[in-house]
Order: sequence, then C-alpha cells, then structure tokens
Amino acid sequence: MKIHNFSAGPCILPQEVIQKAAEAVIDFDNGLSLIEISHRSKAFVDVMEEARALSLELLGLEGKGYKALFLAGGASLQFVMVAMNLLEKRAGYLNTGTWSKNAIKEAKIFDDIYEVASSEAAGYNYIPKGYDIPTDYDYFHCTSNNTIFGTQIKSFPNCEIPMVCDMSSDIFSRVIDFSKFDIIYAGAQKNMGPAGTTLVIVKEDILGKVSRKIPAMLDYKQHISKGSMYNTPPVFPVYTSMLNLRWLKKLGGIAAIEKENDKKAQLMYSEIDLNPLFNGYAVKEDRSKMNATFTLENENLKETFETMLKEAGINGLNGHRSVGGYRASMYNALSLDSVKALVEVMSELEQKA
Ligand SMILES: *Cc1c(COP(=O)(O)O)cnc(C)c1O
Repeated sequence: MKIHNFSAGPCILPQEVIQKAAEAVIDFDNGLSLIEISHRSKAFVDVMEEARALSLELLGLEGKGYKALFLAGGASLQFVMVAMNLLEKRAGYLNTGTWSKNAIKEAKIFDDIYEVASSEAAGYNYIPKGYDIPTDYDYFHCTSNNTIFGTQIKSFPNCEIPMVCDMSSDIFSRVIDFSKFDIIYAGAQKNMGPAGTTLVIVKEDILGKVSRKIPAMLDYKQHISKGSMYNTPPVFPVYTSMLNLRWLKKLGGIAAIEKENDKKAQLMYSEIDLNPLFNGYAVKEDRSKMNATFTLENENLKETFETMLKEAGINGLNGHRSVGGYRASMYNALSLDSVKALVEVMSELEQKA
C-alpha cells in the first residue's frame, strides 16, 4: 500500500532522491561509500560546491553578494548565531509562534530584544501586520512559515535595517524576492533534505560589525572563508540536500513547484472549509501552504477518523502537541495525489457521520 507522508519534519523527500542517496552510501566514488571518504576529497568538495551554488541559483541570489553555507546544529543554532554575529545594541523580532519565541529567547542572552508585534495572545493563529520596525536597530527577525500553527507571512515588510528570516519550513516552496533578506536560514529536514544540516544564506557585507569576540564555529565569516568546510561538514545530509536541489532545478525551480504547492493547498483548504466536521486553525488570510492545521468539530469521531486514515495509508497527520488536532504538511515532494487521498477520507467521514 502506498504511504502518504504528511509528516511535519523530518519530511517527505522525492523517491528518486532517497534512491540515489542510498546508492551513494554503498558506492559513491570508485567503490567507496559517501560516508567513508574524506570530506576534503575532490568528489565531496564538488558536492559541497554544487549544493552551495544550486541554493543561490534557485533563490535567484547569484552574484548579489550572498554566500551559502551548510552548517550543523539545526535551525536552533541559528537562533544563537544570528544574534552573536549581528546583535550589538538592539534587535526587533516578530513573534509568530514557538520557533520565533525560541529565537527571541536565545537572542535575549546577548542583548535587549524588542518584540515588534506578537500573535501569542491569540494562540498564534494569525500573522500581525502594520507594525513599525525601528530604523536604528541592528536587524529585524521574522519566521516566514510557522510550522506548528500553520500560518505563513504572505507579504514581508519593507525593512530599512538588515532583515533575517527563519525559512525552515517553506524555503524553496514559493517565489519571493529573496534579495530583501540579509540572512536566510533553514533546517534541511523540513523542505530540503534529511536532518543534520542547516542552509544559511548570508549577505557578506552585514558581517564584522559587532564588537564581541565570536568563537570560530559560531562565526559566519570563518565558515565563509573556509568554503563551508571549517570543520567536517555533515556529508550525508549535504549530499542528499544537493540531490534534492538538483531535482527541484530539473522540475523548473521554485516557480514550477509553487504551482503544485498552490494546487495542493487549495484542495486541502477547500475541504477544510466545505466539510462541516472540520475547522481550520489559522485565520484564512494567513494560512500556510505548507502546513494546514485543523481540528475535528466532534471529538467523538476521532477514533473512526484515525482508523480510516490508517487504512488509507495516511501518515504523520497528528498536530503538534501544543495545538492538538491535525496538521497536513504538504512539502515540495508531497504529490497532489496524496492530498486527494486525504481529502477523500475527510469527505467519506462526512458521509458516514
Ligand atoms: C523545525 C523548525 C525549527 C527548528 O529546527 P531544528 O533544525 O530542529 O533546530 C526552527 N524554525 C522553524 C520554522 C522550524 O519549523
């Protein structure tokens, strides 16, 4: 039976990417495994360089002063590194969910943080708008897609200070003017590859402006000067991410995948809206196209619904423990057919009830 993987992360990857990654674990370079060769070998250095170049190419940031890094430590380490490398006096953060809040908490270790706006009081079910970003701050930080609550920023503010964005769960999913941002980071395991590496895109000219000493491993400049190989990089996640970026390029890039993502989100949300048994969690205008969050109107149907999901091969639909209900994560590699399978179960439940 086909399993439809709606997991929020680690997430679904294209079958051909998993196949090629598996082959490379057995034989990557003349009979040697990807995970046993030197990361300084030409074969691997080429992988790292292709992964970095493809990232910039797909985001439309080639030749614009940006560098791409594949670091370890997850998006969570970027909460720390961003503040350590940029925060001198004060920074502004938009609080739109658990991950934003964690980013704020970590930055507060270094200095004062000003929350420009927050949707916490409403259970993070919307994206605040119309807030002011003080122009004398070091930077502004936002989270493009709130994986847990299912909200997504549709229009980014015009920002006069450096703008930093955690794009972990929607990078490479939709066309944005990425050159609006000075730092973009994304844990690979949401929409790019396996867990273990984080893509960090840095505009080089914003670095070197803080007075503190920065340990080498936490210093973007060090990682840039060593070609993202300051120390041994996470070779398998970088290779697999590179394969996935090749897959995306072959498909036609972000513009092409965005069309598919739009179709999936449209189908999903129209079922949530039309089916009286389900309620969407996020306010309509801020709904995420990556993670659709919804609850059952009548909890008595929970067992029946979950048995039907299981029988249809639908996996990973449980909502985050802080929201409850259900969350359909529709990352790039999820097919429209999988969303159709889920929507079918939802409408069958309606007929039964
Ligand atoms: C999952 C997630 C994180 C945390 O990522 P780790 O790689 O586990 O540290 C941060 N931000 C967002 C938006 C996420 O979805």
